Amino acid sequence: MVDEEKNRRMELRREIGNRKVKEIPSPSPRPAYLAAHACFNCRKSFKLSYEKSHVCPECGEPIYLMGRAFKAPKRSDDEQWSKVQRLYALGFRFQRYGGDYPSLPERLREVDRFVEEFPDHELRVAEPNLSLLPRKH
Ligand SMILES: [Zn+2]
Repeated sequence: MVDEEKNRRMELRREIGNRKVKEIPSPSPRPAYLAAHACFNCRKSFKLSYEKSHVCPECGEPIYLMGRAFKAPKRSDDEQWSKVQRLYALGFRFQRYGGDYPSLPERLREVDRFVEEFPDHELRVAEPNLSLLPRKH
C-alpha cells in the first residue's frame, strides 16, 4: 500500500533525524579567531586572538596585529621585515589573500612609491603610526 510505504519512510526519516540530532556534539563556547601578530623586534609572528592587545611572548615589547593573511618573512630577511614594518606603519594590514586591488609591493624600495600611487588602497585600513617606521639607514 502506498500509505504504508509513506509511513514507513516517514518513520525511517524520523529515526535518522533523531539519530543525527543525538550525534551533534554540543557547540563549543566560541570559536577563537586567531591572527598573526608580529614582533618587529624579534622578527617573529605569533598566532593570537583578535580580542586584546598582546606583548611579545619573547621580548615583552608590544606586538602588532598584522591580519589573517600575513606571512612572516624569514628572520634574517632585513629587507622584507623592513618592508612589512613600513607597510604596517603606513596603515596597511594583511587581511586577505589577493583581491581586486594592486598587490602589495615586493620590495622595500617600492613601498613609498606604492603608497603615493595608491593612497586609498583597500588594505590600507588603519591610521598610520609613523613612530613605527623603521629608521632609514
Ligand atoms: Zn619580541
